[in-house]
Amino acid sequence: MTDFFNIDELLSKENRLIRESVAEFTDTEIKPIIDSYAQRAAFPAYLVPRFGELGILGVTLPDQYGGTGADYISYGLVCQEIERGDSGMRSTLSVQNSLVIWPIYTFGTEAQKEKYLPKLASGEYLGCFGLTEPDHGSNPAGMQSRLIETEGDLILNGSKTWISNAPLADVAVVWARNPAGRVQGIILERGMEGFTTPVIANKWSLRASATGELVFDNVKVPEENLLPDALGVGAALQCLDNARYGIAWGAIGAAIDCYETAVEYAAQRIQFDKPIAAFQLTQKKLAEMLTEITKAQLVVWRLGVLKNEGRATSAQISLAKRSNVAMALNVAREARQILGGNGISGDYPIMRHLMNLESVVTYEGTHDIHLLILGAEITGIPAFKG
Ligand code: FAD
Repeated sequence: MTDFFNIDELLSKENRLIRESVAEFTDTEIKPIIDSYAQRAAFPAYLVPRFGELGILGVTLPDQYGGTGADYISYGLVCQEIERGDSGMRSTLSVQNSLVIWPIYTFGTEAQKEKYLPKLASGEYLGCFGLTEPDHGSNPAGMQSRLIETEGDLILNGSKTWISNAPLADVAVVWARNPAGRVQGIILERGMEGFTTPVIANKWSLRASATGELVFDNVKVPEENLLPDALGVGAALQCLDNARYGIAWGAIGAAIDCYETAVEYAAQRIQFDKPIAAFQLTQKKLAEMLTEITKAQLVVWRLGVLKNEGRATSAQISLAKRSNVAMALNVAREARQILGGNGISGDYPIMRHLMNLESVVTYEGTHDIHLLILGAEITGIPAFKG
């Protein structure tokens, strides 16, 4: 396991135990099957309850609701180890932990917590998070999905797109304008009349993750399904902060898998009577990959400490998500070069990671949007509106 600066020594015993058990799971349960699922654009749904058994669907959720009750560094390490297998698998996990369980736990009523959280933490239920709309991606504040009150009933109309887990989700945390015009979180359940989840097909990225739309056609929403404290776009952004934090760790896992594959390949591949690892240009690539992975590891470790103390800011999380995903994309591209023609083959994980990371760099705030968040933090001037 790539750990050039002995960051392992900074981890607690619990952090290390969790990391080791998830690493073993990835090596034995994800790596052997994932290429075949990605090639067929199929989602290995059977892994969701297995994640539940491993205790990684509600990593920071208290035990009282079926969670593991671990800290944020453990959560980060889980994301890293699962993404060493595949970014799509980590996406499923991020959505369930940060975008479904976390908002229900943080903004929900006691009845909502008891009804949904244990089943989400065990993997009996799969969840999804609907914020993005066809005409409102980077600017969710413009959303048009709307709840209106008609004859005492709350009726939801609108749609969401590019929603991870949507086609199979049992529960959806959805954001829409309430009758007062404020954005509010709502819990929808599969089977509600007028609620459908069409699949988005033809993806070249995150092929082993199920992505879809959420369509609301006069869906009658019971009052008890509103998340009472999930009010305003800021509440949705708080969920995203948690998910982006996990992505900053997860991207390192994809980078490590590419780097380690390239090191092993370079030692074995002979050209001009030498292993290609003996050429300076290969060594430059490997040395730079290791340098960038190490810097990224230090960023997330410190961010994890701040997060455990409740001090990690949105701007710090933006810096880490943006920088670490860009790092992972660069590492994947360099690793692909080292493998030559084999770099594009499904016999190696690199091209799959590279294609997956093209989604990771876009979702949960694009590379440029995170740059603008940092720009606003530095200057005090938000440049989003030009
Ligand atoms: P746009 O907002 O249209 O942006 C297009 C380009 O314009 C980008 O390069 C962007 O950086 C740039 N841009 C936009 N505004 C500005 C500006 N002010 N200044 C400079 N440049 C700007 N969403 C969910 O709600 N839930 C999910 O589970 C989910 N899963 C996803 C899974 C996948 C595989 C993908 C691809 C997306 C997923 N998304 C999800 C949606 C994702 O969050 C959005 O795609 C993302 O926020 C960008 O929105 P957009 O695609 O509409 O792009």
